Amino acid sequence: MKLETLLVHGDEGDPATGAVSTPIYQASTFRQHTVGQQGGYQYSRGSNPTRHALEEQMALLEGGSRGFAFASGMAAMTAVLHLFKAGDHIVASQNLYGGTSRVLDRVLGRFGLSASYVEFRDLAEIAAAITPATRALIIETPSNPTLMVTDIAAVAALAHERGLLAIADNTFMSPYLQQPLSLGVDIVVHSATKFIGGHSDVLAGVVVVKDGKLAEELHFVQNATGGVLGPQDSWLLLRGLKTLGVRMDRQAANARAVAEWLRGRHEVHKIYYLGFADHPGHDLHFRQARGTGNVVSFDLGDGDFARGFLSRTKLCVLGDSLGGVETLVNLPDVMSHGSVPSARKLRMGVTTSLIRLSAGIEHPDDIIADLEQALKQ
Ligand SMILES: *Cc1c(COP(=O)(O)O)cnc(C)c1O
Repeated sequence: MKLETLLVHGDEGDPATGAVSTPIYQASTFRQHTVGQQGGYQYSRGSNPTRHALEEQMALLEGGSRGFAFASGMAAMTAVLHLFKAGDHIVASQNLYGGTSRVLDRVLGRFGLSASYVEFRDLAEIAAAITPATRALIIETPSNPTLMVTDIAAVAALAHERGLLAIADNTFMSPYLQQPLSLGVDIVVHSATKFIGGHSDVLAGVVVVKDGKLAEELHFVQNATGGVLGPQDSWLLLRGLKTLGVRMDRQAANARAVAEWLRGRHEVHKIYYLGFADHPGHDLHFRQARGTGNVVSFDLGDGDFARGFLSRTKLCVLGDSLGGVETLVNLPDVMSHGSVPSARKLRMGVTTSLIRLSAGIEHPDDIIADLEQALKQ
C-alpha cells in the first residue's frame, strides 16, 4: 500500500466488534488468569491496547519494527537519551530543537552525559567532534526555524563507521514526507504534538526503531521510567494520522503561496523556504524527502517591527508549536528558542526579527490578507 492509504487503513480498528475506529481502552490494569501470566496486557505503563495500536501504526509508517508513545516529544527524546550512561558523549546538530539541548545540558548533564553541538551540514566538523566516549549523533532536518538541511544518509553512514547510533528528530517532516530509518538512521523521534496530532489539542511523542535489540531496550526504558501516553491521547493521534496526508498537502500548498507572496514584499529582508530552488538545502532535501513541509521563516530586519507585526496578526495565531490546522506565527528568539544561548541562536540565523510561520489549512487568501494588514505599521 502507498503511504496515503496506509495512513487510513494501517490501523484496522477493532476486529472484535468491527468498529472502524480503535476503541479507547481506559484501563490501568488487566485481569490475569494465572499468577505470572505471560503475554497479553497486564498494566498500562508496560502496554495498553490503544497505545499499542498507535505504536504499531507509527512503526508501519516509519518503516520500523516497533514504536513507543510518550506523553510529549521531550519525554520521547529523554527516553531515547536514557539508553546512554554517565561518561557517554553525544554529538548533536547545533540547530537542534532548544528543548533537546536543554535536557541534554541541564538535566542529563547532571548525571554525567555530555554533548557537543556542531554544524551538521559539514561531515568533517561532525567527525572532528567524535571522541572515544561518543555514542550517538543526533540529526534534525530540516532544522527549526531556518530550515537547514542535513544529509541523513551520510551522517548515518558516518555514525555506523564509528560504531555510533544515528538518531533523527523527524518532527518537521513526519513519516508522510521523510523516513529516516530507510536512510540508515537507527532511532526516529517525533514530537507528535505537531503534525501527527495536527489539531493543536494534544501533547505527545513517539519513538520508532527497526532493530529488535534496540526495541527491547527502549521498551525497558519506557516501562521503567513511565512517561507513557494515555489511551485518550493515543486515540487522538490515531485519528490525527488518518488525515495527515491531506493536511500536510494543503499546508504545503499554503506555505508556498505565503512564501511567494512574502518574496515580493519590501518589508521582508530574508526568507527561508525549502520550495525555493535557491534555498541552499533545496536539492539535498528533495533527495531525502518528498515535500517542503509547511514552515516559512522570514526576517523583518527590525526587532520592534517584528514584535509589532506579531501583535497585529489576527487570523494567524501568535503562539508556540507548529503543524496544527491553524496558521501559527512566532518569534523564535524569545519563544521556541528562548532557552538557546545567544551565540548559537545567531549562528543559526535566529535574530530578534526572525518570524517563523507554520501554515495551516485555511484558504491562502485569508492567511495572506492577515499578513498584509499586519505588515502595515
Ligand atoms: C516541539 C518539538 C519537540 C518537543 O516536543 P514536545 O511535544 O513539545 O515535548 C522536539 N523536537 C522538535 C523538532 C519540536 O518541534
